This record gives sequence, structure tokens and C-alpha cells, in this order.
Amino acid sequence: MSRISANAWFRDQCDAIRAAGLERRLRRVAGAHAAVMSLDGQRVINLCGNDYLGLASHPRLAEAMISGARESGSGSGSSRLIAGNNRLHEILEQSLAEWQQEDACLLFNSGYHANTGILPALAREGHVIFSDELNHASLVDGCRLSRARTVVYRHGDLGDLEDRIKANPAEVRWLATESLFSMDGDIPNLAALAELCVRHGVWPIVDEAHAVGAIGPEGQGAAAEAGVSGAFVARVGTMGKAFGTFGSFVCGGADLRAFLINRARTFIFTTGLPPPLMSASLEALRIIRSGEDLRQRLKRNIQCFAQALREHDLPAPERPSHIIPLIVGDPGPTMELCQQLLRRGVYAQGIRPPTVPAGKCRIRFSISASHGEEDLIFAARQITAAWREKDGVRAFS
Ligand SMILES: *Cc1c(COP(=O)(O)O)cnc(C)c1O
Repeated sequence: MSRISANAWFRDQCDAIRAAGLERRLRRVAGAHAAVMSLDGQRVINLCGNDYLGLASHPRLAEAMISGARESGSGSGSSRLIAGNNRLHEILEQSLAEWQQEDACLLFNSGYHANTGILPALAREGHVIFSDELNHASLVDGCRLSRARTVVYRHGDLGDLEDRIKANPAEVRWLATESLFSMDGDIPNLAALAELCVRHGVWPIVDEAHAVGAIGPEGQGAAAEAGVSGAFVARVGTMGKAFGTFGSFVCGGADLRAFLINRARTFIFTTGLPPPLMSASLEALRIIRSGEDLRQRLKRNIQCFAQALREHDLPAPERPSHIIPLIVGDPGPTMELCQQLLRRGVYAQGIRPPTVPAGKCRIRFSISASHGEEDLIFAARQITAAWREKDGVRAFS
């Protein structure tokens, strides 16, 4: 009987979510997640993936995955501390550390695991964490799971940050920020932020989920691009995005790695990454390190798409990155625009609270090196048409 009453409760909850215009649904992708793909049976231009270099459907990664499985099987058997420390875990960590010019690196099973693991391990009761207001949910949850006090500062606002640093003394103080922000596509002034942290004795951690692979020398990320990677006590990267695979890593000093092995619960109490994934990530790393041509193509595609939006009088950031938001406002019109776009063969996701603040609902376009210019120009034209339609509907309602 408890099933029946619980089900009624679940339904009520879902009804409330739907009534607020915030319902989320899963759609079916057939075949590879690529620049052009099949969605619920329809051919669409995919402008919502994070596969910035097109590696998720790269044949070399698929081959690497197969040979990894042949050599080492499909699973790692247990937590790495118990019986699962595969030679591939070590090789991948060493390769990532060398690429990032760091002493050490530790793999986590995803970016979500990394952030919800390292923050509670590092920040204790009595500590303070300064956290950018637009930080990804995994950083927010990491702050919540720690026993430290979290002080939220205005997005990328170093003046506001400094005021809060001055007003919140503590024995140990941390800072958590993204580098390339996942919903706005902007990068805070990392050099100035690092300098501010040094000046006030704050230990900064940066999440480069959307930057690694896509920007910086050899795709090292935004901190490396700004020449300040060494200023961060820990840098997080995910392999679920530009790497086109899955898993994540935290790099920094050897002492950080040793400490996290002993204290990060999302490392200790979970099964290690499977061998096939690690060989695919190693192959992705090879492509990324020598992938200047891919990053140049990504840059050209970003310019092409932003330029096409501007030509149609749609707002595009002055210095666009591979994440370009189009702010709509409320959930209703945002999802309506999303539907219109889909009807026109363009798949871009409407983003609503709690992912973004209320009133800041948007369509988020992500650009990949694997897009064709003609597809991006076509998409920009469809976006313009759908946008005008939306305004037309509004004007008459
Ligand atoms: C996607 C994302 C994560 C989570 O990474 P996964 O590997 O997908 O779990 C963490 N931080 C940021 C900023 C992200 O955008």
C-alpha cells in the first residue's frame, strides 16, 4: 500500500514542477552524439552538446576503447583502494599531470564526483569557502557537504569578492570558481583573481570543465591560457566534455593527491573508472595535445555563428566563447522558443532554474569544431526566425 501513496505523492510533486513550467524530459538520441544527429527520429543540428572538439564520435577513441577492453576487461572490480588500481589509472594520471605541467593528478569518476569529493575533504568546520554565485551545482553541493561556511560573491566581481574576503576572516579560507562558466560562457579575470587570493591568503580551486581541451596551450585550459595555473591549489577538469569520454581529474601537488586519496569520499567509496574508458581518454588526450587545428576550427566556428547571429540583429557576446547564451527571461517563452527551434531542425536546450537564476532563463548554444559552417549559418537563420515569431506572439497576446 505504501507504493500507492508514495506514487500519488510523486505525481503531486511532478504536477507542481510542471505547473511552474520547469518540467524536464528525456529525449531519445539514436546513433552517435554528433554535430548532426537523430533526435526522437528527427535529423537535427546539435547545438547543446559539450563535445567541443567532436571527439565523442571519433573512430580513434572507439578503437582505443575496444583495445582497452580486450587488454584489461570491462570493469575495474572495486574501489581503487581495495582491489582495483589498474595500470591504466596510473598511466592516465601521469599523462594528465604531465600535460597540465603539474606534479600529480587524481582521477575521479566524473566532474560531479570530483567537486563533491574535494570540497568536503579540504574545507572543514571553521573554514570559509568563497563561491561564485553562478558556480555549477556540483561545486554548490561540494560546499554544502563540507562543514565550512560558504560565502557567495557576485559573479566574477572581484570588488565584491575582496569586500567579502575582508569581512570574513577564518583560520583557512578557500575559493571555488569555474574558469569558463557553463551557462554564460564567460571567463573571470583569473590572473586578477589569483593575485587577490595570494594577497589575502585565500586558497583558490578552479573548475575547468568547459575549458580543458578547448582553450589554452595544448588545450590545458583557461588558467594556463592566462599563465596562472600554478596559482591554483587544485584544478578540476572533466573528460565528459571536450575529451568526448567520461571521468574527471584533479591536478595539483603530490601532497594534494596523497591527501585526497585518504580523505575524498567520492574517490574512496566508489568503483574505479573502467579500463576501456581510460584507454579512450588517453587517446583523446593525444588528440587534444596535438589538436591546435581542432581548436582553430572551433574558434572559426564560434566567430561564424556569432557573426551570423549579429547579422540577424540577435545579441551575441562581444568576445564569444563556445558557449553562447540567448537570454529569454521566463520559463514559458524559453521552452516555446526551444520547441520552435526543434521544429526547424535545431536542437538547443532551454535552461531554467535551478540551473540558472529565476528570470534568466535562456537558450544555450554550444559550438563544436565538428560543426559545418553551413549548418551554423542555417541554425542562426532558424534561431532568428523563431525569435521573431516569439516576439510576434508576445506583441499580440
Ligand atoms: C559538467 C560540469 C561538471 C560535471 O562534470 P561531469 O563529468 O559531467 O560530472 C562539473 N563542473 C562544471 C562547471 C560542469 O559544467
